[in-house]
Amino acid sequence: MTELTSSNPGTGAEVGRFPVADPPILPPVIEAGRAAQQWWAELGFAQRRRRLLRFRALLAERMTEAADLVSAETGKPTAEAVVEVAAAIGDLDWSARHARRVLAPRRVRRVLPVAEGAAHLAYLPYGVVGVIGPWNYPVLTPVASLASALAAGNAVVFKPSELTPAVGQWLADRFAEVVPEAPVLQVIHGDGEVGAALCRSGVDKLSFTGSTATGRRVLEACAETLTPVVLEAGGKDAMIVDSDADLAAAADACVWGGLTNAGQTCAGIERVYVAAEIYDDFLDRVVAQASGLTVGTGPGADLGPITLPRQLPVIREQIADALARGAQAVLGGLDAVAPPYVHPTILVDVPAEADVAQEETFGPVLVVTPVPTMAEAVRLANQSRYGLGAAVFGRRRALAIAGQLRTGMVSVNDVLSFAGMSSLPWGGVGASGFGRVRGDDGLREFARPKSVVVRQAPSLVPSRTFRRTDRDVARLVALYRRWFGRPMR
Ligand code: NDP
Repeated sequence: MTELTSSNPGTGAEVGRFPVADPPILPPVIEAGRAAQQWWAELGFAQRRRRLLRFRALLAERMTEAADLVSAETGKPTAEAVVEVAAAIGDLDWSARHARRVLAPRRVRRVLPVAEGAAHLAYLPYGVVGVIGPWNYPVLTPVASLASALAAGNAVVFKPSELTPAVGQWLADRFAEVVPEAPVLQVIHGDGEVGAALCRSGVDKLSFTGSTATGRRVLEACAETLTPVVLEAGGKDAMIVDSDADLAAAADACVWGGLTNAGQTCAGIERVYVAAEIYDDFLDRVVAQASGLTVGTGPGADLGPITLPRQLPVIREQIADALARGAQAVLGGLDAVAPPYVHPTILVDVPAEADVAQEETFGPVLVVTPVPTMAEAVRLANQSRYGLGAAVFGRRRALAIAGQLRTGMVSVNDVLSFAGMSSLPWGGVGASGFGRVRGDDGLREFARPKSVVVRQAPSLVPSRTFRRTDRDVARLVALYRRWFGRPMR
């Protein structure tokens, strides 16, 4: 059996070793998941809620341990990892508490043509859900799916990124402490091949979080078995700063939103469009704040290393391409790429078609552009194949601008606030994917609606029978004309 070794990208120190799942072991894993799922589903909402809240409590008690492990495998500063784990705890709490309200069987209003039937709606778990996670938020991203999927009554087989297996295993081990009876949450380790095998394994639904390119491969694999997919993919999020914004708050949010986790955040700010009249002031503040950040590993660091070594040349190439097209680096630049680190880089005068303005950079690089009007800011922000999140700073028009952005989520006078709002759905549009985790929609994403209609009386007008007469059909026409024939009624 081959082993996967994870290491700290800042120091190279080994973090853990895990057996790689051989794809032939998947059928027994899925089978074990199916048996566990039946037991889990039969527990009902109240029992599942109790256990999920215990899991949440365990994570809260041991959150610094989780954060240390995240920090060790990704290189992100421990304080940033704590913020990540906190959001995941919120997701567990919310899903556990709200699953019954959102998914419990209910009666639904009957409608006229079938007035004789009582309408019942149930949300049933899919069965075994496959969850494939990325390395950049190795607790929050899987937990967003796990929380909804488990609360809805599914079992889960989770494949963490090969860069963060220890975090994935830690989560599954903690869950097993509160749910020791059956393997409701199983973890399998390995690279993309193992992920692809999970897509083809016969899971009943697949929740993928990762890059848009891999998302396409996941879709192709799942298409073979018509396995439904949730796709949480990449982003190129924009921030818009209006002329009446609180500039200190906007600059602070821009620096954190763009540079947190060294820019390796799916919904991190990568592009900033600023009202021309406040542009210079805003840029000065952002540069001053960003240049004071510490890059490194260990206590005191604000930005850690680039976790995925192969991203370093991508970041460098995007900066080089922008500079070659006439952009200027007002902070950082090509020299900022000093493996395994990239120092904060702020680019101006970047042509809209440059890769750094269009493609995910996934590094601490901000592109700041002045705009003559807010309409132009919206046009440029929407000029992207991605549509994950966004941020708007301003007073009078901020909410209206938020409404015009083609994204799944927007923070107003804040940044990434939707990442902590477990009651709202998370997800994007366009190349950022489809489907939702978290919130009511997230719970429904992991349940299949089942409609049952129970006849309670003879039909008003017999129609679903060959025994209907010409008179019945004429009555049906008359009734439909009366019920639906007048547009305003
Ligand atoms: P990848 O797409 O490289 O990998 C994501 C996961 O998919 C990993 O577990 C990976 O395994 C696995 N995988 C790789 N190939 C396949 C395959 N053919 N079939 C099935 N699974 C496969 O993304 P990263 O891990 O590099 O994460 C960064 C990306 O994730 C960024 O684009 C970021 O924007 C996005 N992201 C999106 C979020 C969202 O909510 N929209 C949240 C967080 C990140 P392995 O690691 O072993 O290769």
